[in-house]
Amino acid sequence: MKIRTKITLSIGTLLVVITLFGYHAAHTTQRIKHNIENILADNYNSVKYAQKMLWAINNFEQDSLIAVNTFYDNLSLQSINISESTEKQHTEQLERQFKRYTADRTKENLISISESINMIILLNGNAIESKSQFAKDTAHEALVLMIVFAVLSIIFAAFMLAKIPQALTNPIQKLIEGILEISNHNYDKRLSFDKKSEFGKVASSFNSMAQDLAQFQQSNMARIISTKQYLEIVINSIDEPIIGLDNEKQILFVNKIAISILNIPLEKMVGKSALDLSLSNDLLRRLVKGVDKEVGNEPLKIYANEKESYFDVHYLSLPENSGIVVMLSNITKFKELDNAKTNFISVISHELKTPISAIMMSLQLLQDNRIGDMNEEQSALAQSISDSSDRLLSISSELLKMTQVEAGVLQLSPKITKPIELINYAIGATRVLASKFECSIEVEYPESIDKLFVDSEKIAWVITNLLSNAIHYSSNNSRIIIGVRQIEDRIEIYIRDFGKGIDFRYHKTIFDRYFRVPGTKVQGSGLGLAISKDFVEAHGGTIHIESELGKGSCFIISLAKT
Ligand code: ADP
Repeated sequence: MKIRTKITLSIGTLLVVITLFGYHAAHTTQRIKHNIENILADNYNSVKYAQKMLWAINNFEQDSLIAVNTFYDNLSLQSINISESTEKQHTEQLERQFKRYTADRTKENLISISESINMIILLNGNAIESKSQFAKDTAHEALVLMIVFAVLSIIFAAFMLAKIPQALTNPIQKLIEGILEISNHNYDKRLSFDKKSEFGKVASSFNSMAQDLAQFQQSNMARIISTKQYLEIVINSIDEPIIGLDNEKQILFVNKIAISILNIPLEKMVGKSALDLSLSNDLLRRLVKGVDKEVGNEPLKIYANEKESYFDVHYLSLPENSGIVVMLSNITKFKELDNAKTNFISVISHELKTPISAIMMSLQLLQDNRIGDMNEEQSALAQSISDSSDRLLSISSELLKMTQVEAGVLQLSPKITKPIELINYAIGATRVLASKFECSIEVEYPESIDKLFVDSEKIAWVITNLLSNAIHYSSNNSRIIIGVRQIEDRIEIYIRDFGKGIDFRYHKTIFDRYFRVPGTKVQGSGLGLAISKDFVEAHGGTIHIESELGKGSCFIISLAKT
């Protein structure tokens, strides 16, 4: 049934009930009013006439004319106000008795008149009583009926009050539930309302929309499934491990090679939380850790399939932060080659030291006057051989240091050291060089400087290397400042020169291995700053440069105080 019809019927019924109720109330009131009027008109008037007639007969003797007239008038009125069955008889009898009394004014006749009057009073009195009772009964009956009507109306109205909003809200509620289901992608949801109701059309539109969506989803699903299968084939054909995570770090996909290195079966991974799985898988833990924060660019060492492999890890963010793809590139071969190179350099630089030392020893003997004098040209050649040997020794020692760092065998023997000791060592080590280039070295050393806890040999080597660079890359007669300052719990050692300076664009790359500023004429290996950085960082310190082209450079080492 339509809601509109329901409302019309309900209100209509209520209207009919109220009308009936009103009609009944009016009718009953009318009946009671009529009864009362009857009592007044018929019986009350008769009693009134009879009482006046009684007064008249009591006064017949004193004022006979007024009394007789009063009696006569009231008797006439009574004779036309007959309402009760025997009242007419008694009234006619009264008339006869009155006639008799007028003919014979005896006491007996007067008594019989008075009896008849009393009879009329009694008759009407009884009638008043019974009519009053009738009116009372009618009023009671009407009251009961009205109460019944009122109760029925209240029940009906209450019923309507409960039903009509329900009839309106129930379909709306069902419609809302249906929409929610659809928004949750449950396209099987259907609504069933009475076809004739106003919501019937809404339900059929909703159902056809849900059907269309279901069809659309099915066709989309088929496309998605085939795309997924296609992607799975592609991903599995890549022989580098790939892991896809959503933004909640749930595993979306993994390829075969990733399964084999993670050593977790596919069904235990896909759809599961990578965080949960990483609790019992070190490799996954390391990979997941890198999703949120930088974990350095050290290659990842994995022991799988009975061999060690090295991987570079790349994180690829999916659009709109919907997830992340973790891609590992197998760099084992490069790592093996790099190790071989490091070993090779290490062996060569180590092996070179002995023949270079032998050359230097022989050269010293050659330059000794006791063996024999050399002419000027021979001396110059010997000096050139000596310089080259020095450089060769310094390069091979730098290479050896670098291989130690690369092989991860750098051993630190830290001890408490005064910064001035390191500075003095470096100045001593570069004294000859400084005098060769006629450089003056100034020391800035405040009185109260805390001590350091460092491998003094390594840090002294770094300072010497920086001082030697400052001398090499400055012009002759230049000033060089070497100093120490303390900033809270850090101690900074700085080496400032006023040489040619370094272009800002090289400030980062200058610490890379084998890097040399393009156009540098001074001979060198490009390893000194790289090794210096490794040595300082091995102590938990930092090294950076402040330099301006044409104005000089300042290298600053920052280390924690003891
Ligand atoms: P090397 O000095 O053996 O070339 P380094 O690693 O010590 O290697 O230095 C790398 C490069 O940085 C040098 O080749 C030079 O171009 C530049 N450099 C280093 N120190 C200075 C300096 N004090 N002033 C200008 N250039 C410098």
